[in-house]
Amino acid sequence: MDKMEKRNCKRCEEEFEIGKFSNKYNKLCRDCTREYHRTYRKERSQREPEFKEYIDRQRRFYMRKRLIVTKEKLLSEFGGRCKKCDIADYRVLQLDHINGGGGKSRKNGEFKSTRQFFKEVLSDPGKFQKYQILCANCNWIKRIENGEIRRLEKGEIKSSTTWKEWCKIQGWEYGWGN
Ligand SMILES: [Zn+2]
Ligand SMILES: [Zn+2]
Repeated sequence: MDKMEKRNCKRCEEEFEIGKFSNKYNKLCRDCTREYHRTYRKERSQREPEFKEYIDRQRRFYMRKRLIVTKEKLLSEFGGRCKKCDIADYRVLQLDHINGGGGKSRKNGEFKSTRQFFKEVLSDPGKFQKYQILCANCNWIKRIENGEIRRLEKGEIKSSTTWKEWCKIQGWEYGWGN
């Protein structure tokens, strides 16, 4: 096959190398093919609710799949274990901003999506200085101990407050009696 062989796209009429077509016989260039399918999906899902449901389900599936793959790539890059307790179960591992503030910058809309954020971390050459992997438990404990979670004020109680902490806040003597 001649690599420099060219053909005109039937839709945009531009000339492209054969490699720009998804296969030898496709009459539309890659962009036009994508556009064609996009329009087809849009028009058909307006007519058929079942098709729309199918398309939406498929989109959610691929979004979720891409997020999982990116997260697993990221976790394995960081050794795939909690830095504190060594647990290696990916279901509980989280990316932790070593100096805190990770949640804040994400809430400001600095990153488009969790996956986008993970991808930016992956391509950051200083990532091992800024981030680490912690399990959900160790992450929670770290946030409490570092005061990354808003400090409790008098009269405030949360499910994560210990009775000892609560007594201290109230100025009571710590004990089990009511
Ligand atoms: Zn085209
Ligand atoms: Zn841990």
